Amino acid sequence: MMEVILDVDGVLARCHEDAVREYGYYEPYPLGMRVKDVLHDLHPYLQDVSHDAFWAKFEYDFWANLRTHDYWPHFWDYMNAKFGNENIFIATRPTHNPASAAGKMEWLHRHLPHTVAGFSIIKEKHWLASPNRLLIDDSQSNIDKFVEAGGQGFLWRQPWNGLPYRTWLGRVIELEQFIEFGV
Ligand SMILES: [Mg+2]
Repeated sequence: MMEVILDVDGVLARCHEDAVREYGYYEPYPLGMRVKDVLHDLHPYLQDVSHDAFWAKFEYDFWANLRTHDYWPHFWDYMNAKFGNENIFIATRPTHNPASAAGKMEWLHRHLPHTVAGFSIIKEKHWLASPNRLLIDDSQSNIDKFVEAGGQGFLWRQPWNGLPYRTWLGRVIELEQFIEFGV
């Protein structure tokens, strides 16, 4: 049986959209842009802040209160039906701010109280790779490293990874095709 490792930020939680909202940007998220670039016009000084330092500014409450994506209930039901709750493992990356780990724990308790397979707050997800494990993640580099380490990876479409928009159902169909045919 295939085991699934599911990313939180950008797949289940609206991390990117909520991050730009914190800085006053409420428009639809533009295609192919990093968070700091989206904020360029509003906050040009952010360009001088490193990626790690940018994300470290977000505290416990930000991570604990991240909104879920609208497709969340449908997607979760689909995942349970397809793989079984016991085969879904949650993996989420902490920032350089230790409060992120605590906030992420709170989010998991709120939204995934019945997950049985487990979860991990882990920096490099490819340490979890094996041939029967499928990582679903919105980061191309996470997917690349996971595949290189011997696992299977499926890039979850989001505007920030530059893939044109599809509905959640369209993305689930892509996922089905990937599982059945490997493409
Ligand atoms: Mg992610």
